[in-house]
Amino acid sequence: MHIGIDLGGTNIDTGLVSEEGVISSRKSMPTRAERGSAEVIKDLLRLIEMLLESNSIQSIGVGVPGTVIRDQGIVNFACNINFHNVRLVHELNQQFDYPVYLDNDANCAALGEAVCGAAENYDTSLMVTIGTGIGGGIVINKRIYRGFNGAAGEIGHMVIETNGLDCACGRKGCFEKYASTSALVWEAKRKLKNQADSFLREMTSDNIDKINGEMIFSAAKQGDKFSLSLIDRYTDYFAEGLANLINIFEPEIIVIGGAVSRQGEYLINPLKEKVHQKVYSKTLPKTNIVAAVLGSDSGIIGASQLWRG
Ligand SMILES: [Zn+2]
Repeated sequence: MHIGIDLGGTNIDTGLVSEEGVISSRKSMPTRAERGSAEVIKDLLRLIEMLLESNSIQSIGVGVPGTVIRDQGIVNFACNINFHNVRLVHELNQQFDYPVYLDNDANCAALGEAVCGAAENYDTSLMVTIGTGIGGGIVINKRIYRGFNGAAGEIGHMVIETNGLDCACGRKGCFEKYASTSALVWEAKRKLKNQADSFLREMTSDNIDKINGEMIFSAAKQGDKFSLSLIDRYTDYFAEGLANLINIFEPEIIVIGGAVSRQGEYLINPLKEKVHQKVYSKTLPKTNIVAAVLGSDSGIIGASQLWRG
């Protein structure tokens, strides 16, 4: 057995997980990151202790929402949990004598889906997690491809529109400025402020700041022309990014995660069609594109599998 820890901005979720990725027990606590990393680590140690009761384990894996220096066991920068240069592996090893592995949450989610989720039966997979931004994880033979200093997979910052929208990373036109959920919502608000007509006005009692991604999909399913055209534009950009990724990596499968993946075939089918028109190798077998299946468990499961390397 292994312990998997999803150290998130809201909760610390932990679980006892088998080598195959099955969670047998779990413990959670609110993170309350404002307390500072020392207090959060104390809770983390308590949760591990609870899971260890009468169980023997081989390793502990931790996923964090930020950058890590894996070989030094350091959380370099994770603003959501208020961790800056925290020697997390050292802290855990003070109390527990097990190998401790560290990685970012997007890589953990990708590994979780590859070991026992949507990409279980595939050797090469790529996970694209859609949310406020876009995270990515590249998995080859159930091991994460990390690049030479661990920072690979930042697919959200692939430019798909030269001189496009400003991105927090300093470039313009990044993938996540067009295909994240925030980007979809931002575009809806921008157009509605310019007087566009839509069901979304009624759905929010004309308070367009209340709009979220789910509302846009729901309005589109009811035939709202405005939302349909927004989603059409959204999937165009989304497909542009996925086609680039397929041209470069040619994974057997791309797993789409994040809240938007709950739209299932309503999102995936048009996306697939557009992607397949854009990829370079049109006559070869196609990369499959599917929605993630593990939901929020992918964090715990993926972290528990970091021992794979
Ligand atoms: Zn960027």
